[in-house]
Amino acid sequence: MNIHEYQAKQLLAKYGVAVPRGGVAYTAPEAENVAKGLGGPPWVVKAQIHAGGRGKGGGVKVVESLEDVRETANRILGMNLVTHQTGPEGKEVKRVYIEEGCDIARELYLGILLDRANARITFMASTEGGMEIEEVAARTPEKIVKVAIDPATGMLPYHARKIAFGLNLESRQAGAAVKFMMAIYDAFTDLDASLIEINPLVITGAGDVVALDAKMNFDDNALFRHKDVADLRDEDEEDAAELEAARHDLNYIRLDGNIGCMVNGAGLAMATMDIIKLHGGDPANFLDVGGGASKERVATAFKLILSDPKVEAILIYIFGGIMRCDIIAEGVVAAAREVSFDVPLVVRLEGTNVEMGKKILGDSGLPIVSASDLGDAARKIVKAVGKAA
Ligand code: GDP
Ligand code: MN
Repeated sequence: MNIHEYQAKQLLAKYGVAVPRGGVAYTAPEAENVAKGLGGPPWVVKAQIHAGGRGKGGGVKVVESLEDVRETANRILGMNLVTHQTGPEGKEVKRVYIEEGCDIARELYLGILLDRANARITFMASTEGGMEIEEVAARTPEKIVKVAIDPATGMLPYHARKIAFGLNLESRQAGAAVKFMMAIYDAFTDLDASLIEINPLVITGAGDVVALDAKMNFDDNALFRHKDVADLRDEDEEDAAELEAARHDLNYIRLDGNIGCMVNGAGLAMATMDIIKLHGGDPANFLDVGGGASKERVATAFKLILSDPKVEAILIYIFGGIMRCDIIAEGVVAAAREVSFDVPLVVRLEGTNVEMGKKILGDSGLPIVSASDLGDAARKIVKAVGKAA
């Protein structure tokens, strides 16, 4: 789960991370009121969406008067902000964050995440702050300092000092940066975060170390023990299909391709996506309908797949164990009665009640192509979208 910048800063401040003073606003008059309560001018008006690159997209403005706070908030609220992370369709801004201006001497980058390759919480830092870290990593990887934390010891001051020296900080700033990083680590582990990114981490003219931006992601599987964090969820920022899926206990993740996939079992679903790729196709989604799904849940899953306008054909690949093939077939037919569609279905059913399932689908009049195994199914579905395109 992701949260907004202002929420991340509020959480981090509780752990002792230095952040500028600020407040959130939903309207322009509210924004002006917030600014009045802060030091300034200048103030900074910042669009709150779950995507980075807001600065370049016109979603971050430094302003010098209360009137400009109001006017800028008025302009940003309701705007469709397009950044490299929102995609071309952009994202409507519904909240702005008003902050005291900050006197920036240096912009640095600091990130902390779970590095799966070495199975350790790892800090990444760079002198090249303010820009996209992916670009720094691609062009000048030597400018990224990495420090992995051994879980047996946890974060120790020398870890933080190593990063501070990598950032070429003077000794007074290094002291402040060490405190800053220890606080970030505490927040990361205590809140079960999966990523904290401070970009830019700023050294001010007075030599203070401050988080000017903050992004936090959380491990969904640990949210049950952080109700306060779970409450920060902003459903406006989330994929509507994925939300609907979560409400029905379906594991659905939208992807970029055009082949809809309805599979039971996470492992089989991943294998199915792999084999589609192997045959030159692109899955439109990951979907595991689960073991004990009802006909209704199957129908919901099928409608979710169809709700993606990119889908040009659907592969139904079911190995019925606990999941019965007849329930899958009934769910698909029920969904087809509710929403009309004309994309071809490639189907492979095997396992419990397979004959009943095949009969239900066969009698339904749906445009079905049968497949005999995984390779055959992949070839047929790739061929089907080839025709559609
Ligand atoms: P992002 O573009 O979505 O990552 O948004 P950021 O919060 O990182 O802001 C983008 C840029 O705006 C920063 O890199 C800073 O250069 C600038 N910025 C943000 N806050 C301030 C501020 O208080 N004063 C000044 N002068 N610039 C700021
Ligand atoms: Mn940023």
